[in-house]
Amino acid sequence: MSERGKLIVVSGPSGAGKSTVVFKVMEQRGDVCFSVSVTTRSPRPGELDGREYFFIDHERFQEMVDRNELLEHATYVSNSYGTPRRYVEEKLNAGFNVVLDIEVQGARQVSEKMPDAVKIFIAPPSLEELERRLTGRGTESPEVVRGRLDRARQEYLEADFYDYLIINDDAGHAASELNAIITAEHCHFSDRAQLLRDSH
Ligand code: ADP
Ligand code: 5GP
Repeated sequence: MSERGKLIVVSGPSGAGKSTVVFKVMEQRGDVCFSVSVTTRSPRPGELDGREYFFIDHERFQEMVDRNELLEHATYVSNSYGTPRRYVEEKLNAGFNVVLDIEVQGARQVSEKMPDAVKIFIAPPSLEELERRLTGRGTESPEVVRGRLDRARQEYLEADFYDYLIINDDAGHAASELNAIITAEHCHFSDRAQLLRDSH
């Protein structure tokens, strides 16, 4: 892979199905990798340290912030989350498309630092369905579910900041749309002009 990879920022309410859709795309194509964030929240049943997140304490989180080891970071419903910078840079340089699953404040920070990032908002078909998915996932208390639904309403107000919108009604269809966006982003004329010059 010689071309530099694309940075793909995916946001949307917790429970919209972002991980489900991103992991489906990773099964379909080998040039996509997922940036594992650090978080101070506790692991949910079934989550593995180093796979969904690196689970760290507040002290270590603050140390990473102070050492500028995070590309961006934010607080979400009383926990801190951040993207380790080094992995993202190494993978982009190696030609991989790197997906960040981050909330809106983090997406804005990334977009300022890396204006070429492709910003995608993934939403559920309705807030009622979001509540069903959050409850169905069975990993959050009713109070936390309420906090996440409130946060979803706030995020919708900022969704027009994104370049693309995917409605995750059917997960397979949503994954094919995400796959298509990544492919299209590699077809920009400006990225490919050299190919045309080389071809004659
Ligand atoms: P997020 O990463 O956005 O927080 P998840 O991928 O964990 O969301 O999905 C939340 C819940 O919704 C999970 O239980 C998942 O299996 C389910 N889910 C994801 N996509 C769909 C879909 N298209 N239809 C129905 N359920 C879905
Ligand atoms: P969850 O606790 O449901 O896994 O994630 C809660 C929210 O935090 C989601 O909106 C998710 O996109 C966001 N998030 C996960 N990792 C990061 C990160 O590294 N940075 C930022 N800014 N948000 C993140």
